[in-house]
Amino acid sequence: MNKPIRIQVEELLAEQCQNWPLAKKNFDGLAKVITRECRFANGTALRIQFNPERMVSSSAKTDAQSIAARKCFLCDENRPTEQQSVPFEKNYRILINPFPIFKKHLTITGISHTDQRIDGRIQDMLQLAETLDEYVVFYNGPACGASAPDHFHFQAGNKGFMPVESDFENLPLNPITQNGSFTMHSMDDGLRKAIVLSSKEVEPIAIEFEKIYHILASMQPSLPEPMINLLAWKKEGDYVLVIFPRKAHRPAQYFMEGDEQILFSPAAVDLGGVLITPREQDFYKMDEALISDLFRQIVPDAEAWASLIQNISV
Ligand SMILES: [Zn+2]
Repeated sequence: MNKPIRIQVEELLAEQCQNWPLAKKNFDGLAKVITRECRFANGTALRIQFNPERMVSSSAKTDAQSIAARKCFLCDENRPTEQQSVPFEKNYRILINPFPIFKKHLTITGISHTDQRIDGRIQDMLQLAETLDEYVVFYNGPACGASAPDHFHFQAGNKGFMPVESDFENLPLNPITQNGSFTMHSMDDGLRKAIVLSSKEVEPIAIEFEKIYHILASMQPSLPEPMINLLAWKKEGDYVLVIFPRKAHRPAQYFMEGDEQILFSPAAVDLGGVLITPREQDFYKMDEALISDLFRQIVPDAEAWASLIQNISV
């Protein structure tokens, strides 16, 4: 009998951090990463992480031309020879992420080179959250954070790192639906807006997600998929799926020059409450006013949000 996947993954992490110099360097480097906390009046607490190794990801060019000009780093034939993997189901491989944010940071890739699209894969995501029950699994849409929009992948990071896990106990949630163990809530803490689905079963979440996905798609009809970041985990028998709809990938400050530039390229982890700044000057600039301004530019505005909630309530 094969070892449980969670054990195989633990062994993979240990092996890769020992034998793969890039992974060893960057995971060791995490010990030196500086973090500070920013608290907001309404109780939201965010952490800011200065992590220079994330420059590659934060400044990734994900336009079609740049993607076409590089070799896909998630395809088997292009991955470093040292990078090992653990199979998950028939269609995925679990790898360690050599540019970590978390002490345990995984990338779960589709085995074939197909575009980053969540449609039809939400069950896989919840299944993964069950299998890797010490992790939060996350997904970045092709236009809001995925640095390989041409090769399907999830990521996962150890639990106990992102404030979002406890936000739902600390911040007010507005109930939308309840049916047996299935619940749907909305959350708006003044910075971020999310829909939170929870159930003891995968199926009701998958059905509701699909409904929400199509409503969001109708609000952003020109995109290949609606802009979303997703986080999923399993806790005390409940699957939890958090949907962060987005209206923009990067705030205006990202594209400015000189002192005005802030290299902030938010994705699931940032929405989950850990803001990653690959440059030291940005790390120290982050305060309540700036963070509020940055989030205002990337999350749905009040009108779109009200319309979304109204549509999913029917
Ligand atoms: Zn690929």
